[in-house]
Amino acid sequence: MNSRTITLHDCEFSPYLYEEEIIARISFMAETISREYAGKNPLFLAVLNGSFMFAADLLKRVTIPCEIAFIRLSSYQDMESTGKVKEVLGLTEDIHSRHVIVLEDIVDTGHTVHNLINQLQAKSPASVQVASLLLKPDCLQHKLDVKYVAKTIPNDFVVGYGLDYNGLGRNLRDIYKIVS
Ligand code: 5GP
Repeated sequence: MNSRTITLHDCEFSPYLYEEEIIARISFMAETISREYAGKNPLFLAVLNGSFMFAADLLKRVTIPCEIAFIRLSSYQDMESTGKVKEVLGLTEDIHSRHVIVLEDIVDTGHTVHNLINQLQAKSPASVQVASLLLKPDCLQHKLDVKYVAKTIPNDFVVGYGLDYNGLGRNLRDIYKIVS
């Protein structure tokens, strides 16, 4: 890593994971999924916006027949205190009896994925698993099985490769972490 820092809005970020390492880790994940889902025609559900680059690079490397759809989650700022859950938007595919793999950018507390899995399970899929680009294990507040993880990271705020800071940074090829 060099010291090539960037500024987004009012915050400084330093390089953390270069594109080459990200792609190598995603390739490994794609190989594993291709092996484990052979003959199952999995349906990938990519959660927008953050997972768009991850989804594209993963799907290019999946070698078995598969499908992809894109969903969004309604944005409730304060899920915990309001008790509201983020509702799935844009799911037009029938997932009944399908093998579903949710694609997430990052799992932090796990609230988002936990709620999403519950909503998907109610539609009687054959199976639901989660593939996340990043996981912050120290932050997890749910007993979650995130089956496929490209990389686990410490509790630092990161941007780039689809992840944003107040709208900026999604276009960056590498992942950066906040300079504290
Ligand atoms: P969770 O519900 O697991 O706490 O949060 C998941 C969501 O929070 C992610 O999909 C992402 O939008 C956001 N998030 C969590 N940690 C980070 C981070 O380090 N950087 C960015 N850009 N977003 C994050």
